Amino acid sequence: MTKNADERREAEVRHQIGTQPRQWEQRPRATGPTPPPFTPQPTPPATTTGLASPSNCPSCGKAVGGELSCQFCSQVLFLPQGIVLSTAGRRFGGYVLECVLVICTLLIGWAIWAAIVFQYGQTPAKQLLHMRVVYIPQARTARWWRMFFREVIAKTLIGILASFTLLIPYFWLLWDQNRQELWDKMATTLVVNDPGDRLHPQPSNQ
Ligand SMILES: [Zn+2]
Repeated sequence: MTKNADERREAEVRHQIGTQPRQWEQRPRATGPTPPPFTPQPTPPATTTGLASPSNCPSCGKAVGGELSCQFCSQVLFLPQGIVLSTAGRRFGGYVLECVLVICTLLIGWAIWAAIVFQYGQTPAKQLLHMRVVYIPQARTARWWRMFFREVIAKTLIGILASFTLLIPYFWLLWDQNRQELWDKMATTLVVNDPGDRLHPQPSNQ
């Protein structure tokens, strides 16, 4: 049979059984019961489980996703509740105090003091202001050599960089999500307020 003959034959059969061309293609396939309309299930609030979910800040309860610190209350998410990032103002105050201490002690006194408190994640000014440097990968207070790297080596390198870039690197914490300076990036550290000395390293784990 030719193609035209095929089409004629198909038309005759359709006429006999009373169907329209290709109608079968347009019928819905499923003939079973219609599924019920989708209704979203309400998520139980975190308080019913007694624990905040990992994606909520333990301090203010707002949603935080995979960050180091809460953007709403500055809680550091891998540290005990109440340990918050130091503000830019406090960091600046610490910088000024550090300069005063260096001058007043003719640097040597500051250096001896710093060599003692580096092991506690502090500098002389940070000790007076109850601030502490935290090493991010191990979620604990930075120790002596990391403090030495941060305070001496990293700050010297960033100082050289800043001297021919309009001092812009010194203001990095103003737009950084975790208020990190570039030397914090180099040393993988955060600066937090620790008014109760809760992050003071214990002799057993030094
Ligand atoms: Zn929060």
